[in-house]
Amino acid sequence: MSAHSHENCQALLGTLSEYIDGELPADLCKEIEKHLEGCENCRIVVNTTRRTIDLVQAPQQSEALPDDVRERLFKRLNLDTYLREKLSNGQGG
Ligand SMILES: [Zn+2]
Repeated sequence: MSAHSHENCQALLGTLSEYIDGELPADLCKEIEKHLEGCENCRIVVNTTRRTIDLVQAPQQSEALPDDVRERLFKRLNLDTYLREKLSNGQGG
C-alpha cells in the first residue's frame, strides 16, 4: 500500500476552482482525478463545491454570475480550513 502525500491536497485545492470550471489542461485533470480516487477528503471538497456551483448556476438564471460572486462563494466555502481540520482530525487510523 502506498500512502498518498497530503501535500498534494494543498496543491489540488489551489487549482480546484479551475478544475471544476474545466479550465485545466487534460493532463492536470487526470492527475487531480487520480488523486481524488485515493483521497476521500478531496473528493468531498470537490463534490461539495460542485454542488454549490450547480445551485448557483441553476438553469433558471440565464445570466452568468459575475466573477466576484463566484470568488466570494469559494471563500465562503472555506475549503482550506475544511481540509486542514479534516487532516488534523484524521491522523492515524
Ligand atoms: Zn487529497
